[in-house]
Amino acid sequence: MEPIYVDNNATTMVAPQVVEAMTPYFTELYGNPSSMHSFGGQVGGAIEEARAKVARLINASAGEIVFTSCGTESDSTAIRAALAANPDKRHIVTSRVEHPAIKNLYEQLSTQGYRTTYVPVNSAGELDLDYLYDNLTDGTAVVSIMWANNETGVIFPVEEIAAEVRKRGIVFHSDSVQVPGKLTIDVQANPFDMLSLSGHKLHASKGVGVLYIRKGTRFSPFMVGGHQEGGRRGGTENVASIVGLGAAAELAGEHLADGSIAKMAALRDRLEKGLLESVPRSMVNGTVGSRLPNTTSISFEYIEGEAILLMMDQLGICASSGSACTSGSLEPSHVLRAMGVPFTAAHGSIRFSLSTYNTQEEIDYIIENMPPVIARLREMSPFWEKEAV
Ligand code: PLP
Repeated sequence: MEPIYVDNNATTMVAPQVVEAMTPYFTELYGNPSSMHSFGGQVGGAIEEARAKVARLINASAGEIVFTSCGTESDSTAIRAALAANPDKRHIVTSRVEHPAIKNLYEQLSTQGYRTTYVPVNSAGELDLDYLYDNLTDGTAVVSIMWANNETGVIFPVEEIAAEVRKRGIVFHSDSVQVPGKLTIDVQANPFDMLSLSGHKLHASKGVGVLYIRKGTRFSPFMVGGHQEGGRRGGTENVASIVGLGAAAELAGEHLADGSIAKMAALRDRLEKGLLESVPRSMVNGTVGSRLPNTTSISFEYIEGEAILLMMDQLGICASSGSACTSGSLEPSHVLRAMGVPFTAAHGSIRFSLSTYNTQEEIDYIIENMPPVIARLREMSPFWEKEAV
């Protein structure tokens, strides 16, 4: 049986059209785009075509797109560029629920003399905007707020935040890795300075990312080397992956326009409703009001997410849990902790993240097969009888 893959916020299948676009760049078109000969030159042309396609998806101009190796590199590049552009400012701001790509970078910067402010969220996962604005000062160098949370799918109002932050002359960056192909991104309508994207979250391959840098933004490269990417990111380009990302961006644009995203959201809603109705003591983490169309994080009280995942794996279902094994103990994720999700629920949280490739048959299979798994695990739980009933 093919696995039922509902872990698309971790990574996505490379779309067949993307594989097809990439293949020639592994076989006959292997030239180096920096070479003087035309054999290499034609490869450079393909990179520029891909750049134009990515730019179109977010309504940018091609010159504002820099290819990197991943979302993490884009995040680090953006924050370090903002700090280099503002050497006298030593205050940096982010949210409590960022991906480790930003969270761990900020923690490192806090050991290097930067004062960090982490903006809290409420129990619905929504950002405390007053706290954010009240903490901005003349010494704030950069604000980095993710567009959509990878665990809960909760969307932050980055358009409004960007406008407020830039009004105060502060650089605004958003880790937007979970957004392309799910929501419309329009950098002309919204004053973002920099956005990070990642190929493998939108049906392109791993090993390629994007940093959008608004024209006029003061920038210094993180990867110093050759003149690639207009001197903004040294290193020979990952040509096949870049070409694939161009194809994936085109596909993402089509999916936004042709109703595929609404269909995916309906399947997500069907899954959520089916599980909540048939499993007692289950609840959704995060607001359902403003959420990515593909994501639901559901807590099943009094059992461990890891145990659920293992049993789901035996059923051929691939998802993620909201806890991580750290030094032998299962710790709920920093996102669920920041939201104040009770431990009994946070431990048993499962993230389902769909793609446009999921079918109703797959969703119905999960709805039918998961509740007995939960019931069996609860029978084994010492807490279930004592506390839940
Ligand atoms: N930011 C968010 C919100 C993510 O979900 C991820 C990946 O899970 C990243 C950044 C890191 O992206 P990459 O795996 O391309 O480094």
